[in-house]
Amino acid sequence: MDQLSLSTAGLPQPHVALRTSIVPVPLNLVFFGPPGAGKGTQADRFAARHRIPKISTGDMLRKAIADGTRVGSLVRDTLQRGALVSDDLIISLVAERLEQADTRNGFVLDGFPRTIPQAAALDALLVDRGGLNVVALVVHADEVIRRLAGRGREDDEAYVIRERLAVYARETEPVLEFYRRRNVVAILDGNRPLDEVTAEIDQALKRGRAVLGAGNTSTAEPGTGNRRF
Ligand code: ADP
Repeated sequence: MDQLSLSTAGLPQPHVALRTSIVPVPLNLVFFGPPGAGKGTQADRFAARHRIPKISTGDMLRKAIADGTRVGSLVRDTLQRGALVSDDLIISLVAERLEQADTRNGFVLDGFPRTIPQAAALDALLVDRGGLNVVALVVHADEVIRRLAGRGREDDEAYVIRERLAVYARETEPVLEFYRRRNVVAILDGNRPLDEVTAEIDQALKRGRAVLGAGNTSTAEPGTGNRRF
């Protein structure tokens, strides 16, 4: 017998146990913030780096419109007005997407949930799927408007931007509070350059779920005299 076979003969197969113990916990993330916070860009970068899919509900809806699907024709006017499409419709789109196998090791959601019923529906979809972390980007209102004005999307005209910001404040901001109470949020300053925000997101997630939402990661305190989102 050579040395190699001697060393393993009759022993339990350690690599089997090892393999089960290193099955990764899914990286289920929500990128949260107002229109123009940079969450789409950060979600793209994060998803590519961690090889998990980015699920952008805005992109899904815009694609449905471009493809002329039934869903597209249902939502076109709503998007043009800057209003939210119905919870039922968006929840069923996300539910369908999360059934696909590529989401098993995790995913980054961008643009969902945007209402409390959507957040509750996401919880139900993630039962036994490894929990959720939320990265919230906080940005000054004037910076949001400056960024959106430079973007040139069809729903980025000034009056539609105003409506989307109002909808955000009314419908979506309460979702942040919903997650803050559960201590799963890292609140980061999205006013800074993209690369700095990217680095900050990685650091916050490395520090782990235990510290998220405890206030440790907040870099933008109220009191600047500027409306913050
Ligand atoms: P932004 O980049 O400005 O945050 P999105 O691309 O996420 O915008 O969304 C564009 C539009 O698509 C929204 O204004 C809304 O009409 C619709 N939409 C996207 N996600 C949702 C959602 N979760 N619930 C309802 N409507 C949504």
